[in-house]
Amino acid sequence: MGAALLDGKAIAADIRRDVKTQVDAHLAAGGRAPGIAVVLVGEHGASQIYVRNKRAACAEVGFYSELHELAATTSQSALLALIDTLNADPTIDGILVQLPLPEHLDETAVTERILPTKDVDGFHPYNVGRLVLRMPLLRSCTPKGVMTMLARTGQPLEGLDAVIIGQSNIVGRPMALELLTARCTVTICHSRTKNLADKARGADLLVAAVGRAAFVQGDWVKEGAILIDVGINRGADGKLIGDVDFAACAERAAWITPVPGGVGPMTIASLLENTLQAAELHAKDRLM
Ligand code: NAP
Repeated sequence: MGAALLDGKAIAADIRRDVKTQVDAHLAAGGRAPGIAVVLVGEHGASQIYVRNKRAACAEVGFYSELHELAATTSQSALLALIDTLNADPTIDGILVQLPLPEHLDETAVTERILPTKDVDGFHPYNVGRLVLRMPLLRSCTPKGVMTMLARTGQPLEGLDAVIIGQSNIVGRPMALELLTARCTVTICHSRTKNLADKARGADLLVAAVGRAAFVQGDWVKEGAILIDVGINRGADGKLIGDVDFAACAERAAWITPVPGGVGPMTIASLLENTLQAAELHAKDRLM
């Protein structure tokens, strides 16, 4: 393998340590622990694992966290009423509603109900809009985590040709805005894109967020490119596989993220940073 590994697990551990140091200092000064409320509706297997991992990370850094487990049959009005309660609760800085929600619930309405300063996922239109306008507040966790990893390469991003495969609201689009803000020249690809492999071959920085195992082939990668694999897919043997054919692509890339241990841990690290940031915003608000 020619590429250097971008070790998300190690970078995320650094971030957790840093967040914990800040929380400890805040507690020592008589402050309260940042608080996060996690809302899980129904019994979606992957969501239960994600929620468990997120809460474990919150406990590690000293956050207060509470879990609201609701039945799959919960009504829209009951879910919105819970969000209203959490919005008004001064001990809660961040509200995380684990997606996807059961089909009868309106995800957009639920996301919009969360106070923008408690939107630690960074999904609220207010926070996305701030990113569009180059004045980000709470940033979408996965793209933010990717930007933190890219900073660790020490490579200047300005002027790079960046290609993103995937245009979802939670990964592809905010990723494009982050990279545009960093002054890359950004191309966003999706399922209707023509000549996708050729576009990928032009990329100095390639981000794969497709949701298809080993989709990006070795000969799609420019020599010396930075390759970010956001995908999490499960193989027939139950193992996690990214969206990138790792062995073949690592021969050509200069930097590559593994799966697991790449972008995944960074997403949770960004959630911790966002919750700390939200707690700081709320503390400042109380002083004004
Ligand atoms: P998504 O909402 O399903 O979006 C997938 C995107 O890929 C869509 O824009 C789709 O295009 C595009 N696409 C699908 N097939 C394609 C093809 N053949 N050629 C080109 N583009 C194609 O998925 P997502 O939520 O963005 O997640 C993407 C992957 O990242 C998944 O594996 C997910 O599990 C993973 N993920 C990981 C993390 C993490 O922390 N590591 C966080 C979030 C998501 P259209 O828009 O045209 O349909």
